[in-house]
Amino acid sequence: MNTYNRLPVAFDRGEGVWLWDTAGKKYLDALAGIAVSGLGHAHPKLVRAIADQAAKVIHTSNIYEVPNQSALADRLAALSGMDESFFCSSGAEANEAAIKLARLYGHHNGIQSASIVVMEHAWHGRTLATLSATGNRKAQAGFEPLVPGFVRVPYNDAAAVRQAGDVNRNIVAVLVEVLQGEGGIHVADPDYVRFLRRLCDEKGWLLMIDEVQSGIGRTGKWFAFQHAGILPDVITLAKGLGSGVPVGACVAAGRAKGVFKPGNHGSTFGGGPLACAAGLATLAAMESEGLLDNAERMGELIRSGFREALAGVGGVVEVRGMGLMIGIELDRPCGDLVRQALDAGLLINVTAERVIRLLPPLVIRESEARELVARLAPLVRAFLAKPAA
Ligand SMILES: *Cc1c(COP(=O)(O)O)cnc(C)c1O
Repeated sequence: MNTYNRLPVAFDRGEGVWLWDTAGKKYLDALAGIAVSGLGHAHPKLVRAIADQAAKVIHTSNIYEVPNQSALADRLAALSGMDESFFCSSGAEANEAAIKLARLYGHHNGIQSASIVVMEHAWHGRTLATLSATGNRKAQAGFEPLVPGFVRVPYNDAAAVRQAGDVNRNIVAVLVEVLQGEGGIHVADPDYVRFLRRLCDEKGWLLMIDEVQSGIGRTGKWFAFQHAGILPDVITLAKGLGSGVPVGACVAAGRAKGVFKPGNHGSTFGGGPLACAAGLATLAAMESEGLLDNAERMGELIRSGFREALAGVGGVVEVRGMGLMIGIELDRPCGDLVRQALDAGLLINVTAERVIRLLPPLVIRESEARELVARLAPLVRAFLAKPAA
């Protein structure tokens, strides 16, 4: 179906941060399949893990024990400080699980018609419930009636969340991104995240953090919530977790632990042997190769590189982000830059119309990070030098 505006290029081979198209042209991939390919392309340890598991058994279903799934749940618990995981195959499904978990938690506590606080400009997915939680009218338009049970407040506004709780007695959870990805790389104040933790404790709500884009090392820590020094009740994961093999997770702790019982939720594909082998290999390679550290250092280098290269250029609003989740906000819509970068052998993305979004693989080297700045900064300068359309 005609659901995508695709760029006229196809890739048939990759290595690290580089991709080659079918005509043999080489590109620097600063998007990583939208924050998915953290290990870059064709990482030997990932390739080996997938091939080895495929040669043994790919799928058995959740009717049986799945040792790779238990092992991945243990790894996620160890890295996050949380307790238990439900596995699925996408970010939207991970958030569906979180929304259902919050509603059931409410039911267990005598709230029959639960509400979840969500944010303006949030992105949680395209299934009906996650689309309803998403704060993007363009994505929602035409799909009404939306799923009820969401209360929307401005992002990074502590008073608005407290007020929502004063008005609505049926709130059971807050669902929030520590930094909004699709919404334009907006970073929440760590004090705001800590405030949400305290408020949720005070009210008995679940603090649910959508780490689908920000998780798995992308921001320089395993999970973005760790920058604020708090522990959420629920996090959701997907994009980077399986390095391109579809795997998502809803991870729970504290009050959210033990809410689901057999029969409450499930997935045929979720947490299969192959997907979890990819997840385990991803986490192992990130750890042994020091990629979190690299994400932090390369992110800093890229942001300071752009700040320097674009200093004094009219039309650049801000260079921001955390680790390798980077946004360059311009004062005008800049979707045309995606095609110009493609021509220049560089893969980037523009989100929220005016924000250049960079999500390079976590394996990016210093020379490649400098190359990224060197290729993109002149395009941005030339773009801004033209009179605004
Ligand atoms: C991409 C994304 C989703 C949706 O994930 P899908 O795998 O596309 O369903 C949800 N939340 C956030 C923060 C995302 O970036």
